[in-house]
Amino acid sequence: MNSLPSREDPDVVDVAGIGFGPANLALAIALHETDGHDLTAAFFERQPEFGWHRGMLIDDATMQISFLKDLATMRDPRSEFSFLCYLHDKGRLVDFINHQILMPSRIEFHDYLGWAAAKLDHVVSYGADVLAVHPVEEHGRITHLDVETATGTRRARNVVVATGLIPDIPQDVQLSDRVWHSSHFVRHLQDLPDGPHRFTVVGAGQSAAEITNHLLDRFPHGEVNAVFARRGYSVADDSPFANRIFDPESVDHFHTAPPDVKKSLLNYHASTNYSVVDLDLTKELYRRHYQELVRGTERLRLLHTTRIRDIRQSDAVRLQLEFLPTGEHRELVSDFVIYATGYRPNDPRNLLGDLAGYVKEDDCGKFQVDRNYRLVTTEDVRCGIYVQGGATEHTHGISSGLLSTTAVRAAEIARALIADGVCRVRA
Ligand SMILES: Cc1cc2nc3c(=O)[nH]c(=O)nc-3n(C[C@H](O)[C@H](O)[C@H](O)COP(=O)(O)OP(=O)(O)OC[C@H]3O[C@@H](n4cnc5c(N)ncnc54)[C@H](O)[C@@H]3O)c2cc1C
Repeated sequence: MNSLPSREDPDVVDVAGIGFGPANLALAIALHETDGHDLTAAFFERQPEFGWHRGMLIDDATMQISFLKDLATMRDPRSEFSFLCYLHDKGRLVDFINHQILMPSRIEFHDYLGWAAAKLDHVVSYGADVLAVHPVEEHGRITHLDVETATGTRRARNVVVATGLIPDIPQDVQLSDRVWHSSHFVRHLQDLPDGPHRFTVVGAGQSAAEITNHLLDRFPHGEVNAVFARRGYSVADDSPFANRIFDPESVDHFHTAPPDVKKSLLNYHASTNYSVVDLDLTKELYRRHYQELVRGTERLRLLHTTRIRDIRQSDAVRLQLEFLPTGEHRELVSDFVIYATGYRPNDPRNLLGDLAGYVKEDDCGKFQVDRNYRLVTTEDVRCGIYVQGGATEHTHGISSGLLSTTAVRAAEIARALIADGVCRVRA
């Protein structure tokens, strides 16, 4: 087995990974476990230690994916970085088997990811926020890239940008101690004393439903207003045929499909991922709601078909709500408002500065990406700029921002980097 050389070794690394979430962690593992190359790699992660959506590590929340779609199994079931190896290492393999589940808790999966990251600690710098990537020219060609962090610059032959998604919050909303995005939910909750708080949760997706349910459990005397434009929560389609949209083969088909087919595929299968909730959780929320109707108490208020038109913050948060069918307005006063309004792609060009001008665009102004996740650039750029994660949904389909193809995608990028490295040595 190849041992991935340490970040301390060379002056110029072959691969600089920006972000060390599951995507680039899986790439580090794939490079580490692929024989026959001597590529060097260094990864930069802005968090002070490994963390996977820590702000949503709610007790009892489960994964939306089989544990077999871990960092490595679909690339190589014999990998030492599989979820099963983790369980074995932790002495829980037998107990997990008896548990008879495919989808572990998010807390356990986070622990697995951290366990895997710790094994490759020598290739990652934590607390390293990448501020920009600068081109380095030689004889009129861009041959290297300088990766700038607050503490220094590292020269690389290739970069792999995997910086994840960014919270999507309505423009007029100022986050504060009273108004949170779901991505910081657990942190805010830790600081909150017990009490009969009034919460409003905005959104009807998985995070919104999880937060609503959790608040009702955690604050037995609190009230929770769930505000969303739909009539009710919609269920995530995780049935076997629908799941095929997450297969590695779907990525091949999606990448070659014409734009109208890409658009249709994203629309047809949006209900596997966007603004949808696990069936069990919708049933639990309905059960609570119905029990409250029976008892004549109302702690969970479902303000459906409703949009927030204005928000004002003082010693409380005052929301102006519009009931969409009638246009009727009303005020809702809450102590805390949680926007579980999702995420948007982090455009990799924001990090690229002048380099962005070398990246080719499609007719809609979106950056072009080849099948191996390399940005399509003009001939002047001789180094590889790879992108993985939700930012490539327009080229590689709906699984891009999820864990489904993480292991396989990492292998594809690793192969492309290795092939390029071998060519460079031969040239
Ligand atoms: C609460 C929640 C639960 C989820 N559950 C599932 C699930 O069960 N199944 C599933 O398939 N998907 C799930 N997802 C989707 C999620 O996108 C993937 O699980 C996964 O996080 C994608 O990995 P990533 O590495 O692409 O991005 P991320 O996990 O977001 O990692 C990106 C990393 O880059 C770092 N970073 C960003 N910018 C910089 C910078 N400039 N310099 C240095 N570092 C930087 C970030 O700190 C972060 O650690 C979930 C998402 C959320 C929010």
